[in-house]
Amino acid sequence: MSFVLKEKGIKPTVRFVANGENHPSWKGNGASYSALHHWLKRILGTPKFCIICGKTKGRFEWANISHNYKRDIDDYMSICYSCHDMYDNARAKMWATIRSRKYEQDIGII
Ligand SMILES: [Zn+2]
Repeated sequence: MSFVLKEKGIKPTVRFVANGENHPSWKGNGASYSALHHWLKRILGTPKFCIICGKTKGRFEWANISHNYKRDIDDYMSICYSCHDMYDNARAKMWATIRSRKYEQDIGII
């Protein structure tokens, strides 16, 4: 998104950066979220392994890779619940870092 803004010569505002917090959350999204899961189960079946830790026993789910929730099977991976939590936490940290950097740029610190 920031690349697009740069190309168009639009300086992202602090307000815009703060809105990054509203990026879709894996745990939210109500109806569209469950519709997507029905679609995933229909196309891909039930996830039965974790591509991160290699477990084949336990509870698994389809994790969205891009977090854009596309109806694209290449955008999903089968992972276990604990790896999914780690994955989401890592992403949340990444977002926080990006936001604070952009904020610093906007207010002229760096
Ligand atoms: Zn795992």
